[in-house]
Formats: sequence, structure tokens, C-alpha cells
Amino acid sequence: MSEERTPGFDTLAIHAGAQPDASTGARATPIYQTTSFVFDDVDHAAALFNLETFGNIYTRIMNPTQAVLEERMAALEGGTAALAVASGHAAQAVVLHTLMEPGAEFVAGRQLYGGSINQFGEAFKKFDWHVKWADTTNAESFRAAITPKTKAIFVESVANPGGIITDIEAVAAVAKEAGVPLIVDNTLATPYLLKPKDYGADIIVHSLTKYLGGHGNSIGGMIVDCGTFDWMASGRYPSISAPCESYHGMVLGETFGNFAFAIAARVLGLRDLGPAISPMNAFLILTGIETLPLRMQRHCDNALAVAEWLTSHDKVSWVNYAGLPDNQFYQMARRYCPKGAGGVFTFGLKGGYEAGIALVGKVQLFSHLANIGDTRSLIIHPASTTHRQLADDARARAGAGDDVVRLSVGLEDVGDIIADLDQALEAV
Ligand SMILES: *Cc1c(COP(=O)(O)O)cnc(C)c1O
Repeated sequence: MSEERTPGFDTLAIHAGAQPDASTGARATPIYQTTSFVFDDVDHAAALFNLETFGNIYTRIMNPTQAVLEERMAALEGGTAALAVASGHAAQAVVLHTLMEPGAEFVAGRQLYGGSINQFGEAFKKFDWHVKWADTTNAESFRAAITPKTKAIFVESVANPGGIITDIEAVAAVAKEAGVPLIVDNTLATPYLLKPKDYGADIIVHSLTKYLGGHGNSIGGMIVDCGTFDWMASGRYPSISAPCESYHGMVLGETFGNFAFAIAARVLGLRDLGPAISPMNAFLILTGIETLPLRMQRHCDNALAVAEWLTSHDKVSWVNYAGLPDNQFYQMARRYCPKGAGGVFTFGLKGGYEAGIALVGKVQLFSHLANIGDTRSLIIHPASTTHRQLADDARARAGAGDDVVRLSVGLEDVGDIIADLDQALEAV
């Protein structure tokens, strides 16, 4: 490849971060299934532990298979560095561990993945971290929730399962004015459809479990440092801007500049909280990413066809897919993800809760389960499953009312997908 040519997205999805293995020539990235790595000598060991040289010590903190996955994701999102962790939830916990102190607050759009609502609202309370909820569809509501204790703003780019396309640029303006970083969960869009950094995100998190892995076989998470936030100027994030006791007083923000956040998340958050991804899962997810552009486009095309078909079905009261021209987020989708509005959407059944339960019991090609972003078509009735632990009003606000059915449209022949829904709806 010539020096001056910038590789395209599809090329990066296959090659970024990877080289034939230096010792064996293996073309696919090997699974470095080892806990630890031998030091060259005592000085080398000391330099590694002092963060004076980069290198592998122990797979909880860093591993060569994970490193390829990290470099690839940083390249696809346009970030300066990235950190792979055990799950999407681990990514969120490690990011906030790096930013928060006891008593601190962050503002999150309330239209989130159900598990994130629990993590933010319940689990994080035990760390004395407090979420203030805003309305994802209204950037002003984020401004209203900011206080002197606010350390970050968190949104999903495409909100699951409400079908919301977030006006990231408007929320980023609020974050900038407040002097706090904007964290964007880009799981549903993936960088193939939308790159949050282009609209002002400072940190991107992913559940790799979904479209990036893409085959429903591995749990993983990713943190991408966009390199855009000035931690030293802010001074409000001591993990990055204050002398670090466990590294002989090193100031990570001074030493590591525009990738200091990723380093802090690794050498403090991941090191001490411990949610490392296994080399095997990193390998499977890397393999998935190679075909991300092809898969993501087909997911979008199939989802649009299924959504259009459902629109005219007499047992369906509404279809909420931002790819449909009459959808309230259609213009936002055109602006933020013109290649397609993703593979997940919801629709309403005239028969309500009972019809929802009946439908998930009748499908055959679709799998009834709590995941999205698999090659296979997936279906769930959120009110009776993923969102059942929430109170009725919180459920409705999260876009998971009684009549709601969520589809994650897979890569099967679209005629077969529609035929399966047709027979199942017939029987409802
Ligand atoms: C699944 C998901 C998560 C959590 O990821 P895990 O890998 O299951 O921990 C977070 N955000 C979104 C949008 C998700 O879909």
C-alpha cells in the first residue's frame, strides 16, 4: 500500500493492527493463550512495571491478541487508543471508574439498554456514583441536569430498544460547555454506520458482544479514547491529571498526552477491577470484525424490508424504525447514519402483552432470546424479559411498553425472515 493513501474502512476492518506473526508467519492473529510473559531481564521487568516501556506482563492488563483487537477498534473509530475488556458492561464500569470519585455525578440519557439503566441507577450507587437522567431526544435536558459534581455525559448513539437516533452533536455541545467528556455507547450503530468522534464524542464504548463480534458466540467490550479531551487543562480528573501513587508519582496525563485516558483505564481501572477479555474471545471478535461492513449493510437492508412489510400488517399497530420515512428520527438517521438505520427495531402488537408473548412462542426461524447483533434473526418481548425488573413507567420511558416486540433482523434470506413472521402473526 502506498504511503500517501489512507486505507478505507473495509480495509481497516480486515488489516488494522494485524501483521503476520513475527515468529511463525501465521497470517491470522494467533490466540496467545497465556497468562504471563517472560521478561528479558530485571531491567526490562522494572521498565515495564514503571510504564517506561510498553510490553506484555500479564493478560489481565495486556495480551497480544487483545492488542490487535484494540488497535483495530481504535482505527475504525478514529481514536488514539483503545482498551478491550470482558463485556460492554465492564467497559462502562472501567470508563466511569477512571472518571468518577465518590459523591460525583454523571448525566445519562434515560433511553438506554436495560442493563445500563440498572448498572447506572443501582450498582453504581454502591460506589457513591450518582446518575442524573436526561431525555436523550432533548439536548437541553442534559444541560438542566448538569451540576458542579457532574463528571461526564453518557448517551447511546442509536438507543436500544426505543429506536432513537441521538443528536450527538447537540449533546456534545452541552458537554463541551460544561467542561466534561461525552461518552457514547456506539454498540447498535458500530463505526460502519456512525463514528461518534466526528460529532464530538470524547470516549466511545462498545459491547463487542453484538454486531462487532457479530456471530453470537463471545462476550466482549471496548473503550475507545478519541484523544479529544484536555484532562490536564480540566484538572477535575485526578486519575489522569494528579500524581499517581502506584506509579511513583507519574502524572499519566503528562506522560501519555492524547491517549492518557486509555492508559489510565488500563493501568488503574482494568488492572484493579480486573474484567479482562480472554484471548479466545478477542480472537473470535477480531474474526467477526473482518466482515463487519458486509454484515452491517445486509442487517440494515433486511431490517428495512422487514419493517416495511410489518407496516402494512393488520395485527401491527406501529413500527418504530428510523429507516422508515414517516419515523420521527428519519431525518436524524439520514444525517447520522445514511448507510442504514441498523438491524434492530421495535413494533407494536394490537393485542398487547398477551399477543407479544404468543408471537415469541410461535416463531420458528427467529430465536427468542436476549441478545442482538447475531447473524441469526432474534426476537424478544422486552416487557416480559429484559425490562421486566423495571417499574411500568420506567419501562414505558425506555421504549419497552407491554405491546412492544423487538427484532434483531439477521442475515438469512429476507423472504424466509418475513415468511416466519407471517406465519407467527397469523397464529397470534
Ligand atoms: C448489550 C449492550 C450493552 C452491554 O454489553 P454486554 O457485552 O452484554 O455487557 C451495553 N450497551 C448496549 C447498547 C448493549 O446493546
